[in-house]
Amino acid sequence: MISLISRTLRSEGRSLFTPPSSLISIRHYKVLSIETSCDDTCVALLDRDPISDKVEVLSHVKRTLNSYGDGGIIPTKAFDNHQRQIASVTKEVLQQNGITSLNPPDLICVTRGPGMKGSLTIGLDFAKGLSVAFDKPLVGVHHMLGHLLIPRLDRNIDVQYPFLSLLISGGHTMLVLSESIFKHEILCDTIDVACGDALDKVAREVGMEGETNLGREMDLFLKDIDSFKGNQDLPQYSFDMPLPLMNKRGRVNQLNFAFGAFQGRVQEIKKANPELINDLNFRKQLAYQAQCAIFNHITNKLKLTLELNKDKLSQVTHFVASGGVASNLTLRQTLTDTLLENSNITKTHYPPVELCTDNAVMIGWAGIEMYESGEHLTTELGVCPIGKWPISEILDVDGWIRK
Ligand code: ZN
Repeated sequence: MISLISRTLRSEGRSLFTPPSSLISIRHYKVLSIETSCDDTCVALLDRDPISDKVEVLSHVKRTLNSYGDGGIIPTKAFDNHQRQIASVTKEVLQQNGITSLNPPDLICVTRGPGMKGSLTIGLDFAKGLSVAFDKPLVGVHHMLGHLLIPRLDRNIDVQYPFLSLLISGGHTMLVLSESIFKHEILCDTIDVACGDALDKVAREVGMEGETNLGREMDLFLKDIDSFKGNQDLPQYSFDMPLPLMNKRGRVNQLNFAFGAFQGRVQEIKKANPELINDLNFRKQLAYQAQCAIFNHITNKLKLTLELNKDKLSQVTHFVASGGVASNLTLRQTLTDTLLENSNITKTHYPPVELCTDNAVMIGWAGIEMYESGEHLTTELGVCPIGKWPISEILDVDGWIRK
């Protein structure tokens, strides 16, 4: 128990850890977790050993609604799809692990918010039913807390508070300071679309095809950019790319991201050069310069965030970049260089992409962290989903049970 006590003291910085009575009697306990905040129906089973401070992912099943033909996620279709999927996905996970009423999970974790209300309702109501059927406690988890705490799942890395996170995906782009399990502050957030969304749209404009991950496809398309850029035998182009939030007085020091202008600019450039749209060199240089401009915007805002929050971030030595876009190696290098030059941060972490997109493992892990915290949190069965739930107000909502 010593390792758990010391970890809890480090992470909470306050009360001594007293394990819930159910944890005293069991070395391992199993956690069934559900995530349905958007269009992914996800269910996971985790095995937790609080004494050795280990956690193992036994199963994770994810089914994503194909929204390609709709041009985006339609909430009513996501709602219907969750209804169709949730029971069979859960059954699959339970059967894979021999979980029955005679061998039930010990804890049920589910995303309570934020997200699309209908989608959240399906997962939450289903989890409540499981909690009643198995007679086990329920933890209603904040979706963003799942994203923020997932780097701590790998107990060998031990990301320590306070740490700075860049959540960067098709759904989120924000810099968050985390001081404890329950204390998170968004320092910089997007005012329009997420970075991954902008990259996907630019990728489609320069000819990438497919239903998902076009931004990653564009990055692969740019692997040989060095043989085009600066090549004396090929025409060289210099495109005027947007500098979001830098063009108006009073916005230069605005702590926000804005990615909405990039797709429009690429469209304008294509319109002005119709004869070059199918030229490979033109497309490569256009894609490269648009991607560079998007990444420059991120590093500029990261620098500004570090500068304007110098005192607040003086104790921060760990940085986590999570989300699909963080798998880009060029972006990683730029982030590391920026942090080394402009902050006290010496350790950077990049969790595996499959744990950075929406998933149920992160909900199970965040639920475990809350359940084992000094608050021993669980959730009442009467709670409702929360569509809008600021990350700074995790404990301010109704329905928490503290032991
Ligand atoms: Zn998410």
